[in-house]
Amino acid sequence: MIQESLSLLAVFAHPDDESMGMGGVLAKLSAKGVQTHLICATRGERGWFGAEDQNPGLRGLGLIRTSELESAAKLLGLCSIHFLDYLDGEIDQAEPVQAIGKIAAHIRRIRPQVVVTFPPDGNYGHPDHIAIGQFAAASVVSAADAAFVDGEDRSPHRVSKFYFMVDSESFVNRLAPLLGEITFPMEDHVRGEVPWQEWMVTTRIEMRDYCQTAWRAILCHKSQLASLGPLADLEEPAAIEILAMQGTFYRVFSMVNGGRDIEDDLFEGIK
Ligand SMILES: [Zn+2]
Repeated sequence: MIQESLSLLAVFAHPDDESMGMGGVLAKLSAKGVQTHLICATRGERGWFGAEDQNPGLRGLGLIRTSELESAAKLLGLCSIHFLDYLDGEIDQAEPVQAIGKIAAHIRRIRPQVVVTFPPDGNYGHPDHIAIGQFAAASVVSAADAAFVDGEDRSPHRVSKFYFMVDSESFVNRLAPLLGEITFPMEDHVRGEVPWQEWMVTTRIEMRDYCQTAWRAILCHKSQLASLGPLADLEEPAAIEILAMQGTFYRVFSMVNGGRDIEDDLFEGIK
């Protein structure tokens, strides 16, 4: 039985990460009375904009994507969004202590039992995803440390459960015919999806009933839909079928439970 005082903080890099990555889970938790909060490190200023003559500029695209995220957040029932205001594509150049201090201060203010972020592979190698995942991990540790000064002088808070949002092999395989391979080009190599083996998944959330909401939240990110290719053109029922395969997580640590059994709730073990 989920209680009203439960809260979750998701720490991601760009507007749309929340809807595309775990929209169904966020919608379900919000509907069950969990307070869901989002830290978004950038405003997605370097996202898709089509032809060069349609380029709204970094600030312009950032504003568009901020308002798209606000619409999606309303559908998903998020309680709050906090931007760290790093520039899209430059999170890994952020000054680490400052970035960790900002996130730790949010953790100490929101006091979530559960924090979710990107796994070490950034889902498909995106350096922003990898960087924010590392900062989030350091922030969870720092927020609990009484000796850590966050700049806002807040009291320590120990997160009970920390998760990576992972893409399972079956989900990646299902997506492949629609999206092709999801890759991220670097200067000297191309990165791609590293699907998590089914046995590596510690937590599977059933949230099919909330995937219609998740799909509509994805569609709020209008400026970015062209980058989704045929996926964006799916009829709602087909999109729901695919989104229902998400909800897979890796439990990095838990202060309240353990073992090999697959969890079906991010708050399992929290009374
Ligand atoms: Zn992203």
